[in-house]
Amino acid sequence: MIVNKLPVSTALLDHINIILVGTTHPGNIGAAARAMKTMGLKHLRLVQPQHFPSLEATSRASGADDLLANAQLFEHFDESLHDCQLIFGTSARQRSIRWSTLSPKQCAKQALDTQQPIAIVFGREHSGLTNQELDRCHHMIQIPTSDNFSSLNLAAAVQVVTYELRCYVDELQQKPLLPPDEVPVSAEEMRLFYEHLEQTLIDIHFLDPEKPRRLMRRLQRLFNRAQPVTSEMNLLRGILTTAQNIHKKL
Ligand code: SAH
Repeated sequence: MIVNKLPVSTALLDHINIILVGTTHPGNIGAAARAMKTMGLKHLRLVQPQHFPSLEATSRASGADDLLANAQLFEHFDESLHDCQLIFGTSARQRSIRWSTLSPKQCAKQALDTQQPIAIVFGREHSGLTNQELDRCHHMIQIPTSDNFSSLNLAAAVQVVTYELRCYVDELQQKPLLPPDEVPVSAEEMRLFYEHLEQTLIDIHFLDPEKPRRLMRRLQRLFNRAQPVTSEMNLLRGILTTAQNIHKKL
């Protein structure tokens, strides 16, 4: 199997900005930076943190202090989003249906589908993001939790979301490049196969065209489930042709 290993995995995460809004405890900023660095993210933006820079933040960053040193500070939330094309907001609570809600895994897929700058926004420890702030977001991310206790520590929430980003990068890098005849066949090839199958079944008198019953539908369900690849389709077609030829000679 050919494995497509890209050289620098963290480059795939370079367009992602983590934005912490109105963080109260500097320790959480440090812990969030640590969470990000372990997963390969480096762009941290802080909107009106209550205490920053802070010794506590540096101490909780435990070696991710380069992220703190490079963190960008903003007075207003909108300024922190200035260059971002896609904005994900996180929330511990189910808000109104105005926002499409994604799991962290679904967010990771969407976030890595693009290489345009994007933002993943985290709210205040006590009150989260305001509705006005969530209005600026294209999607809301909710980490699945127990029903009656849904609020994670801020840095823990950053860890979960960035972990899914990391997992998806690894998945992309491991994705084998399939040889062409191992790729599932197209819908058109399936249609031609069903025509061939039906004709063969008629030729060998297995299917009575006057009384087809549900035979073809059931066979289609079976072969659709199998999702044959090109090499398998060639085999199936070969079997049908052979059956037709033998029957012609009888
Ligand atoms: N009482 C607040 C909880 C804030 S927790 C509220 O109801 O929103 C601080 C931040 O951590 C949240 O704003 C969010 O960014 C993140 N967070 C905590 N739990 C989360 C969860 N289950 N899903 C998504 N984000 C979560």
